[in-house]
Amino acid sequence: MTSAVVLPTKTVGLDVERIRDDFPALHQRVNGKPLAYLDNAATSQKPQVVIDAERDYFEHDNANVHRAVHTLSSRATLAYEGARDKVRRFINAPVRESVVFTRGATEGINLVVYTWGRGNVQEGDEILLTEMEHHSNLVPWQLLAQWSGATLRYLGLRPDGTLRLEDLDALLTRRTKVVAFTHMSNVLGTINPVAEIVAAAHRVGAVALVDGAQSVPHMPVDAQALDLDFLAFSGHKMCGPTGSGALYGKRHLLEAMDPFLAGGDMISSVSLEGATWNELPWKFEAGTPSIAQQIALGTAVDYLSDIGMEAVFAHEQELTAYALDRLGSIPGLEVYGSAPQRGGVISFNVEGIHPHDLAQVLDQEGVAARAGNHCAQPLHRRLGQPASCRASLYLYNTEDEVEALVRGIRLAKTFFGA
Ligand code: PLP
Repeated sequence: MTSAVVLPTKTVGLDVERIRDDFPALHQRVNGKPLAYLDNAATSQKPQVVIDAERDYFEHDNANVHRAVHTLSSRATLAYEGARDKVRRFINAPVRESVVFTRGATEGINLVVYTWGRGNVQEGDEILLTEMEHHSNLVPWQLLAQWSGATLRYLGLRPDGTLRLEDLDALLTRRTKVVAFTHMSNVLGTINPVAEIVAAAHRVGAVALVDGAQSVPHMPVDAQALDLDFLAFSGHKMCGPTGSGALYGKRHLLEAMDPFLAGGDMISSVSLEGATWNELPWKFEAGTPSIAQQIALGTAVDYLSDIGMEAVFAHEQELTAYALDRLGSIPGLEVYGSAPQRGGVISFNVEGIHPHDLAQVLDQEGVAARAGNHCAQPLHRRLGQPASCRASLYLYNTEDEVEALVRGIRLAKTFFGA
């Protein structure tokens, strides 16, 4: 008889207090109050292991990559290429050649526009975007439309901040060359049905680019399962350093594309008459890359993977529900977007208080929140608001910090008589 195996109960809840110990910047007072860092959609804090990884590189291995046989350069190259393998696993890219290191989501999207876009989009073609895009996934395509004579089309929004998917089939035609959209809105928190939109794009032969700046840091994202053509994201929003990030592209697409920036490392051979290109992914990594930063992004990916992206997502879902409930108790406060599938980005306004004034009062209370249009002016115009206040959550945030936000808003209401 085989004995029954008792499996340990899987803990989904995060040990947030232990996680907070990993982030030195969280343990400070701002204006005499404990910091409540709620500006994670702009950039995340960094765990000590990531800070150490970057410092360790400079202290021990600092050398340029790919270019020398000496020991330090070999160590730097191994670590840099090792980070690429970690990022490949993190997004489940099939091959490392599909992972191009960039300085962030903006650079990744521009890379696609300047290379794939210029090579494939012509007058009469159509580019489909959505009304909830960050300027980084809007302005580059507007430039492409200007250069090529292609037409921009937009998928609109429903009152709850979800995309009008019912219009998708009518907007997609055989002239649609690309559908570029965000996985998660950096204003409304809406999580878009990526697989469905990508499949619709593919049905008309269009290529799909997903802006993963707000999704890859917060939930499991599987580039193969979603059948993405391109996926751009930033390292600094996922516990990694500024100047780090990646663009995933299907290999056959990247192979057919011209280089983006030209210079050292992206060539195979150069003569006075011309040049041939290096293999993927280096064809797209001209010049000295952000070596220390990408290595430390690899450490950030290890850090998040050890915790588990499902657990990160579950924690943020729970805390978002808590925050929405608590903010809902404040008279005169309006949250923008109420999508059933949403992440921890909460934008709001309080009647009678300018969002910048509100953010200033919050800062006096140690609460780091953002006010402005969050690089989404067309979306704010659609909301009928020039600006909003935004609190955005991450794996280390707590209910106590949400309470500090709520207290700060109540204080501002008293202060401004709102
Ligand atoms: N896309 C979205 C949805 C974002 O929220 C951001 C940054 O806030 C970006 C793109 C641009 O990211 P980065 O400035 O790191 O390139």
